[in-house]
Amino acid sequence: MRFKRKDRGKKLKYILLGLIGAAAVAAVVWVLATRLEGQAPVIVMDMESMYIPAETEIPVTITDEKSGIRKMFASILQEDREVVLANRSYGEGISGADDANTAVDVALPVNVRENGLKDGEALLRIAAWDGSWRGWFSGNVAYLEEEIVIDSKSPRISPLTRQHNLRQGGAGLVAYRLSEPCVEHGIRVGDNFFQGRSGYVGDEDVYLSLFALGHDQGDDTEISLFARDKAGNQGRSGLHYYIQGRTFDTEGLTISDNFIRQVLPEFQSDNDLPLDEPLRDQFLYINRDLRKKNNEALLSLHKDSESDLYWEGVFLALPRAQRRAGFADHRTYIYNGEVIDEANHMGVDLASLRQAPVPAANSGKIAFVDWTGIYGNTVVIDHGYGLMSLYAHLSGTDVDAGDFVRKGDIIGNTGTTGLAGGDHLHFSMIVGNVFVDPYEWWDGAWIKNNITGKLENIAETAEK
Ligand SMILES: [Zn+2]
Repeated sequence: MRFKRKDRGKKLKYILLGLIGAAAVAAVVWVLATRLEGQAPVIVMDMESMYIPAETEIPVTITDEKSGIRKMFASILQEDREVVLANRSYGEGISGADDANTAVDVALPVNVRENGLKDGEALLRIAAWDGSWRGWFSGNVAYLEEEIVIDSKSPRISPLTRQHNLRQGGAGLVAYRLSEPCVEHGIRVGDNFFQGRSGYVGDEDVYLSLFALGHDQGDDTEISLFARDKAGNQGRSGLHYYIQGRTFDTEGLTISDNFIRQVLPEFQSDNDLPLDEPLRDQFLYINRDLRKKNNEALLSLHKDSESDLYWEGVFLALPRAQRRAGFADHRTYIYNGEVIDEANHMGVDLASLRQAPVPAANSGKIAFVDWTGIYGNTVVIDHGYGLMSLYAHLSGTDVDAGDFVRKGDIIGNTGTTGLAGGDHLHFSMIVGNVFVDPYEWWDGAWIKNNITGKLENIAETAEK
């Protein structure tokens, strides 16, 4: 009995020791796996560029999934001066606990003047420690160092062209000088913006921008020059301009079922055409939705326009032609005696003989050749600096995208493709993302006064 009891006691003791041992091992494993985890925090800076303006906040996110963030520190080092931007503690960081700071967002405040910093290069340093017991309880540490450029000065933008006489729906040219390289610069025309381009004169700080007033931008449109540098500093400048407001013609077009049936076959391949709807609704889809889509596509071509002035002198119109519709005519569409739609005609319709040869209005590079909804077979020529000419409803085309054409070269023949009542050429001029009045470009005096005369002055001014 005694023996047995003793044995049992021993057995219990071993079991107990075994349990304690297992618990100790488990605790050590737990500590090793959690409190002694070796994964450093992750520091992420969310900056558009490494350029710092006069006053800003640099957004930083620090994450540490395992132990949470214990503390962080950030400073800017410039020459032998260190400016502390943040020095924060977040408690011990509790592994696995819900309230562990596994992610913290910090906005580092920079004020160049108050911090005693100056424009030029500097080093941004960020350090973060987690709640791990590694490193004698100091935690895993992450360092991030980024070279930054402090730029507290706003760019200056100065016009080089003097008076700008503009017409509603017309174009203009501005040249300006920038005091430093900028990421965005050009001319604001109401809500629209035209980015400037360099390269016309040898001086790299001189930029040109062809710009335009939409047919709906009247004499109260505000125009100014704008520039933004890499650090986000903005500069503005006014310029002298005068806008001549205009009213455009109105025209009623009667739409018959016959006309709709005539033009519909061409649009059958358009997946969005509501084939099961009445003819009237099919017409409305083409005249509204498709027109909008086609215009957007054609007015986005300027983004690939080259910084080369390919053109020279007055632009050509279709020879021996009659004008059938004018620029920005306001059209109402009448169906069964009722006005069902309205649209602006953003070009000039010129009718000559059937399938008359169409000359390139001026020299340039073929930017686009394709069937384009209401415009039918369409050619667009890029004349450089965002200036383009458009030829629509063609029966055939003789050019390919990328070809260079000279003024007068035949690019195709007139026709009735797209939404056209009879054989004619729909001709548009485009500046940037705006249809402009072609009459200005057919007028040698207008071109000299508003474009080429200014270009000559800019070249002379820039040489000085
Ligand atoms: Zn037209």
